[in-house]
Amino acid sequence: MTMVSSKDIEWPTVSGGPIEYSEYSMTESPYAGGCAWIDGEWMPLDRASVPVRDFGFTRSDSTYTVASVWHGYVLRLDDHLTRFLDGCEYLQFSIGITRDELKSLALECVSRSQLRECYLEILVTRGWPAVPGDRRIENARNRLHVLAMPYQWVFSPEEQINGISVTVPRTVRRSPLNAVNPQVKNFQWGDLTQGLLAAAAAGERSAILLDGEGRVAEGPGFNVCIVENGSLVAPIRNSLPGITLSTVFAIAGKQGIASMQEDIAIERLLRADEVMATTTAGGVTPVIGIDGRAVGDGSPGPVTRLLQKEFWRMVGEKSEFTESVRY
Ligand code: PLP
Repeated sequence: MTMVSSKDIEWPTVSGGPIEYSEYSMTESPYAGGCAWIDGEWMPLDRASVPVRDFGFTRSDSTYTVASVWHGYVLRLDDHLTRFLDGCEYLQFSIGITRDELKSLALECVSRSQLRECYLEILVTRGWPAVPGDRRIENARNRLHVLAMPYQWVFSPEEQINGISVTVPRTVRRSPLNAVNPQVKNFQWGDLTQGLLAAAAAGERSAILLDGEGRVAEGPGFNVCIVENGSLVAPIRNSLPGITLSTVFAIAGKQGIASMQEDIAIERLLRADEVMATTTAGGVTPVIGIDGRAVGDGSPGPVTRLLQKEFWRMVGEKSEFTESVRY
């Protein structure tokens, strides 16, 4: 068996910056470095797969959540479970186990992986009907997946320090609530993928999508938040209720910074003093340019930096938002 070293899965970080991996080594186990529980069976992450008949694959008929584990602490697992179970109710998925059982499985999955920094994904797919040729979703048996895998980055630790530039595509809009509801976490990324393609064509790192009415919605894998007159403002609709965003709001509150959610027109985004992207897969990332124009003075602003520093300090230690994994 090849041993995975924690060093093999680390991304470069900025020395002296707020993001540092733990120093540790793993013991020999088939699950070391990545573990999965699918439909009742434990397996190494490399063996985890989705059958081609699963509507989760053919129709993206699924919902999921991803919590972070940092320095052996899971961030806001209860909030992730609530968001996931709300999504299951909206899409009429049945996961077949209780919330408490799901929580235990999730913690056990991380523990088996031995990963101190990891992505904890909880996913349900529609499955498929037992009778060949039957396409009725009500006859499909839903399949639950719990995965612990090395940390994945939408924005690398370096980008989080230096900031990123984005485009606001005018040719694609974020799906409205009454189509593919963006408030329910999903893999139906048609609009977000078009945003990424537009960003690549424009030579930008990512995209911020507007909704059908021209209001700021969100980006491929992140929420958007602006700083205006010292306060945080994030869009109120047509985006995922991000757990990172709500954590940033909570941290801001402790720092005496006001936060609110309301509609943000494109002009307001372009005039903002600071803009940040928030996501489990990238913490608090400064957006320093939009369509070739500088945000503020074109470097990460003081409010974003403060929130970023506090965010990474808080996720890696015991706090009201974290719980420790027993390895
Ligand atoms: N918006 C979208 C479309 C996402 O996919 C994500 C995270 O993956 C987010 C926002 C940020 O949500 P969270 O902070 O809960 O990770």
